[in-house]
Amino acid sequence: MEIKMVDLGRQLHPIRSEIDFAISSVLEKGDFIQGTPVREFEKNLSKWIGTKHVITCANGTDALQLAFMALGLKPGDEVLVPTFTYVATAEVIALLGLSPILVDVDSQTFNIDIETASNLVTSKTKAVVPVHLYGQCANMEQIIKFAESHNLHVVEDTAQAIGAEVKFSDGSTRKAGTIGHIGTTSFFPSKNLGCFGDGGAIFTNDDNLAARLKMIANHGQRIKYHHDVVGVNSRLDTIQAAVLDLKLKHLNSYCEARQKAANYYDSALKHFEQINIPFRSSFSTHVFHQYTIKIDGQFSRDELKSYLAEQGIPSMIYYPLPLHEQKAYLEFLPGDMDYPISTSLCNSVLSLPMHTHLKIEEQDFIVQHIKSFFSK
Ligand SMILES: *Cc1c(COP(=O)(O)O)cnc(C)c1O
Repeated sequence: MEIKMVDLGRQLHPIRSEIDFAISSVLEKGDFIQGTPVREFEKNLSKWIGTKHVITCANGTDALQLAFMALGLKPGDEVLVPTFTYVATAEVIALLGLSPILVDVDSQTFNIDIETASNLVTSKTKAVVPVHLYGQCANMEQIIKFAESHNLHVVEDTAQAIGAEVKFSDGSTRKAGTIGHIGTTSFFPSKNLGCFGDGGAIFTNDDNLAARLKMIANHGQRIKYHHDVVGVNSRLDTIQAAVLDLKLKHLNSYCEARQKAANYYDSALKHFEQINIPFRSSFSTHVFHQYTIKIDGQFSRDELKSYLAEQGIPSMIYYPLPLHEQKAYLEFLPGDMDYPISTSLCNSVLSLPMHTHLKIEEQDFIVQHIKSFFSK
């Protein structure tokens, strides 16, 4: 039995001939940059996710960078961002000369803690970035209220949560990434909607922001060779768009497959006193980009990880170091902050194999070995 963290081969196999056809159509036509499939995919994704505009770009990191450029933030402006996230979120903020203000996370959702964020707001604070980590949404209703009261822009990093649904207290629902002023996502191959290379997209309902985003992603031009602002070159390849447009048709069933696998893990692992299974909030669905358990302090997460590896079971630590302990980000730390939740998560989280084609036998094998580890 060969178990992988993410098995892209198994996902490809059933749609292989359609994929080959889509790619060869692009090859025949030769419209590799900004071809028809790019516009088609943007149209179909905007319908699927429920937002007025989708602007595709080269990757999820660029999507974040384009978002902050389009919002017109100025050097020195402060942006609130969780310290327990992938580096890209804070990286682009720093790169643009803005100040990432690192915030500890909520102990249940592992997403930005709004009470802590409130204490860090200054006159320079201009935006907040909820990251829907592992596919579990941040509490968007609370975040929108907080942002409105401080006049902040909201940029949702939806790289791990495409398809997750946020439920509001008035009963309405909206997909993650469409609630803030701008949402961003990544089509990195292992993401929930992945292409065969790099890709990304930006969501917004705001016509002005959409126009600015398009212009900035295309060298700051609206008319060819007329550059109104300093922009970048960030485009989704036509081949990747053709692949993504095809995979989008399967995204609902991919989400369901992940949720089914997560439910199976949950029911098998919830009885272990040493393990905390992933939190399911009442305000959103979870699309399980990762299935991440937390190992109680007195038991060693690292020993479990090596034990599983010896049995041929991969597992990953997302993330071993919080941003506030990363060398590159030390200069952004306020003097006397500590980050107890994020620090403890880095020492206790473990992500188990999770993908759209995980087999019951594989999950049984994984659970069995977790059981034998704890009964040693
Ligand atoms: C993957 C990821 C990104 C970056 O996406 P790329 O396409 O790899 O640039 C940003 N934020 C989060 C939370 C991610 O998981």
